[in-house]
Amino acid sequence: MSEIKEIWKNIDSTACDVRDIWRVLKHAKTHLAPSSGIASACLCPFRARLRYFYGVPPKGGQEALEGAIAHEALSAIYQVIKDVWDLELSNSETIMNELEERAKPIKKIVFERARDRLSERYFGDKIKEILEGANDRFISLLKPFVDNIMIKYPPPKEILSELLIVNARSGHHGRIDMIIKFNDHYITLDWKSYSIDPAKSHSYDHYQIIANGMLANFRYMREEKDFSRNKLVVIYPYGIYIPHNPSGTRALEKVEKARDYLLDCLAGRSVRGEMPAPQLCMACEYYYECKFYREEYLAKIKGDLTPLADEVLRLFFYRRYVTLEERAVSHRYEYLIQAILDKFGYEEGIRKLEDVGVVERDYEVKNWSWDENKEKLLVYLKGNHKSRLRRGTIIRVSKIEENVPLLARINFTGTVEKVKSDGLILSVYGRYWPNIEQVGRSSVILSKTEIDLTRRELEGIHFAHSHWKNIGMILEMVGHQNG
Ligand code: SF4
Repeated sequence: MSEIKEIWKNIDSTACDVRDIWRVLKHAKTHLAPSSGIASACLCPFRARLRYFYGVPPKGGQEALEGAIAHEALSAIYQVIKDVWDLELSNSETIMNELEERAKPIKKIVFERARDRLSERYFGDKIKEILEGANDRFISLLKPFVDNIMIKYPPPKEILSELLIVNARSGHHGRIDMIIKFNDHYITLDWKSYSIDPAKSHSYDHYQIIANGMLANFRYMREEKDFSRNKLVVIYPYGIYIPHNPSGTRALEKVEKARDYLLDCLAGRSVRGEMPAPQLCMACEYYYECKFYREEYLAKIKGDLTPLADEVLRLFFYRRYVTLEERAVSHRYEYLIQAILDKFGYEEGIRKLEDVGVVERDYEVKNWSWDENKEKLLVYLKGNHKSRLRRGTIIRVSKIEENVPLLARINFTGTVEKVKSDGLILSVYGRYWPNIEQVGRSSVILSKTEIDLTRRELEGIHFAHSHWKNIGMILEMVGHQNG
């Protein structure tokens, strides 16, 4: 039985109250698999293992950097898109002009923030070149969106951007680039901004949009595999990819299997996945890291490692398991919330979670403002009671929405900066300002959460693991000279 099935079997069969469930969860590997990791595991399980277990960092050159800036700008103009769509213009050029004109002030904020970040690593002309590249990428993605979506569909009811959805029941989470909601159906959309290559069938982007679509189905209280009302769309530079309805296809089956594989792998289980065709390895960007770890593994099972290498390997693996334990803890609240709400229903479940201080109700977002360097935002939440939360607690702020699971609502995450007699002041990472705007000045519910900081830690372990022989040589030389 997979790890995730076992966790839920234990919770559903033995626990009966918040504290009992918490006790079960304390011994469980409460991981969440991101849609991007699931897509990676669909292509090659070992590739996902390299990223999420070994800590190999993602590859990204200038192209990816430009794409990331364009992506941030596209996510931020969701309301501009909605406003222009509402005008029901029929000419694609007019729509593009209108969008570009109205998007200018928002793009200015995004590009200025990007310039500040870039100036820490690059100088003058290089920064200019990257920002120009980002602007070109922005246009190249907006154009197919206008031609194929805005022109062909009536104005939607709602556009949601960068929505973080957690489905702890299936151990899955992801930040969806865009959900476009119409009266009786919705579009789940990904901006493929990181590269200019077209998205295609059975590619990373195909699997990722299916995984994200499953989260969107969860938000709208449908079976996660029921895509009858959910159209999937991937926009890439100057093109669009619309996969067939994935219900009942091999691709969907592959996504489910990859999710279980990744969760088992994160839980430290020894699992084997279906290896890719050799031609994929030839083009794989992780080829050298893959070769390094595979060769080391082979040497280990053949007994070819020196005692020192064997001990070093054991220590690095131990550090990785410890780090992954921390990762599991960072998602424990999401499992608890889902378990309690499933068991007791919404009203009673929320009351129970309030009693133990995991959830607080009756707040309203009053206002928000940037700090001096536009690095973070300060958000003021007005409440009608003294909060039990402490400074430094991380919370998810979710908009009150009918018929949407709590962990799939429009939300943003922030850290409590100050507890006041009539509310809270939160600090929120600057990139997520569109999320605050989407929540708007509305009633919200707060729930405790944690931020997963283990990725950087794993990357450090990978760096040390792949360089330890050189470090040993340097230390030996220094020791030799001192000696
Ligand atoms: S080189 Fe091949 S086996 Fe290794 S991670 Fe890449 S695709 Fe997977």
